[in-house]
Amino acid sequence: MAKAIGIDLGTTNSCMAAMVGSEIVVIPNAEGGRTTPSVVAFTKNGERLVGDLAKRQAAVNTDGTVASIKRQMGTDYRFKRNGKKYTPQEISAMILSKLKKDAESYLGDTVNDAVITVPAYFTDAQRQATKDAGRIAGLNVLRIINEPTAAAFAYGLVNGMEQKILVYDLGGGTFDVSVIEIGDNLIEVLATAGDNHLGGDDFDARIVDYLVAEFKRQERVDIRKDVTAMQRVREEAEKAKKTLSSATTAMINIPYLAVGKDGPKHMDLTLTRAKFDELTADLVDRTAGPVQQALADAGITSSQLTKVLLVGGSTRIPAVQAKVKMLTGLEPSKNVNPDECVASGAAIQAEKLSGQLIVGSTASEMILMDVTPLTLSIETVGGVATPLIRRNTTIPAKYSQIFTTAGNFQKSVDIKVLQGERRFAKDNKLLGEFRLDGIKKALAGVPQIEVTFEIDANGIVTVSAKDLGTGKAQQITITSSSNMSEEEIEQAIRDAKEYEAADGERKEFIDIRNEAEQYLSQVSPQIEEAKKTSDKKDYKNAKACWSELNKRVCKCNPEKMTAMEAGEIRDAKEKLEEAVSRLR
Ligand code: AMP
Repeated sequence: MAKAIGIDLGTTNSCMAAMVGSEIVVIPNAEGGRTTPSVVAFTKNGERLVGDLAKRQAAVNTDGTVASIKRQMGTDYRFKRNGKKYTPQEISAMILSKLKKDAESYLGDTVNDAVITVPAYFTDAQRQATKDAGRIAGLNVLRIINEPTAAAFAYGLVNGMEQKILVYDLGGGTFDVSVIEIGDNLIEVLATAGDNHLGGDDFDARIVDYLVAEFKRQERVDIRKDVTAMQRVREEAEKAKKTLSSATTAMINIPYLAVGKDGPKHMDLTLTRAKFDELTADLVDRTAGPVQQALADAGITSSQLTKVLLVGGSTRIPAVQAKVKMLTGLEPSKNVNPDECVASGAAIQAEKLSGQLIVGSTASEMILMDVTPLTLSIETVGGVATPLIRRNTTIPAKYSQIFTTAGNFQKSVDIKVLQGERRFAKDNKLLGEFRLDGIKKALAGVPQIEVTFEIDANGIVTVSAKDLGTGKAQQITITSSSNMSEEEIEQAIRDAKEYEAADGERKEFIDIRNEAEQYLSQVSPQIEEAKKTSDKKDYKNAKACWSELNKRVCKCNPEKMTAMEAGEIRDAKEKLEEAVSRLR
């Protein structure tokens, strides 16, 4: 039976989990990692890389690498590469495709269904974009759920006991705080706050600055402009940071980091936790504001919290944990891995929604209900935003209201759908608009137009309007202008499938070319050596075969390589191998 998985599609890292029997299992990727960098790269060789491979080459291929695409979800950002423009949904779909493929090979089963998590503050457009990304990747998205809600599930807190908890989520590039209320079969996000530009990357950068300055002071070499050296320092800085979460000192050894006037220079430094804490104290302090803000917005004080959950890899930093304790007066719960708890909670929901959860377990009995983060309104006379579904309404929800016309013999009405808390339409976000025409001829105020808002369990909105006089109706599923149309999504699904099919073949072509290129440089000295020892004819033949293969390799563009070119390279390589075998 196909498995349903939970996916935490993160800004810096993504993680996936599934329930195997009654156990939650974090699914490792093909490289063996329990989390996968949310990075996609298009290489000069025409290859598409996702995850660790993409992250590792980022410094030498900045133009061809996309990171933190989650920040662009629901916007009209496009990543341009090789004459093609990719939407954030398509880039995210590439990450999801890899996760799906890796999960299938790990579980030995097909994976069709998934629950994907999003930050609690994600708007309708961002949720829709995430759902579309899943579809493009060939996943049936069972539900989009809030990250803090998923964390509460992973901690088994959704157990019928009423409580208020704070979720402190410090990841690689973002910081989110949510105060959530767990009630009887209802989870409500009372407030969210955060900093979109604060995370583990900033902690790494502080270590990098320190190491580069120390290296300059000791060795008198400035490596700031050396892309490769900086990348090596960055990798070591992150490793040192992780070491300092459990040890009090970390050694940083990077051999041959630079070349000075008197030869090669190696980095050999020690970083203590005390120094690390000093370098990053202001970053840790910056998390205080959003915590206080979220508590104030939720209308509670920290003494009303029953638990604090830590989410995100950066909450492993001891100074961060100490700060959380100081801010809330509670010892944060740490028994679920912070970088895995969102995916784990999503896995519980995935199992439940796909109907595979063992009946009788607590999680199966829990019906997850979320609430709308923002009020939904329509614009009425005078540019007023008239709310139909108020903020914090439990979803799924459906609500109808009767409106009428403002002008005599008005033939049509324009329905503008808005999201936000402001009184006037212009101050809220316009989610979409549509026109209901063919209204029965009548004086102003006579026609009865029923407007219905429906929000599904993913927080995705459908609006319909019906002229009760004629029965004529119009309906739209809200997709903001920056999101993809149904047609574009269908096209992206076809592209992704085509890529998937062509991928294996193209990879094979690229391998053939790469192997030939390697062979050329490998046998070149051997052929030159043989000039003195071999038969002149054999030597000349080998030289000619080498040139022929070299010509074919140089001529073909790896991004557009055809089967014919791959075949020609293979044949030319065989000829060269044969010619080389005759040399002495
Ligand atoms: P996430 O996006 O939740 O996977 O968090 C990723 C961030 O957590 C990265 O900046 C990692 O360097 C950081 N991280 C992971 N493990 C640790 C650790 N043991 N100590 C400190 N930071 C960590």
